[in-house]
Amino acid sequence: MDNKDNKPKNPLKVQPMIYICAECHADNEIRLKDPIRCRECGYRIMYKKRTKRLIVFDAR
Ligand SMILES: [Zn+2]
Repeated sequence: MDNKDNKPKNPLKVQPMIYICAECHADNEIRLKDPIRCRECGYRIMYKKRTKRLIVFDAR
């Protein structure tokens, strides 16, 4: 196959990740530049919605 003209059909969108607060389970849209913090309760431990991996941002 010749891929000399393989432009993506859709322009790249910046898609915010959805995180679930570990404290109040609110959905939070977190963009890359945003601080990881629940907008409902301020908690800083969030689950990624898709992977269910625990993301701990409060590690020091
Ligand atoms: Zn919360």
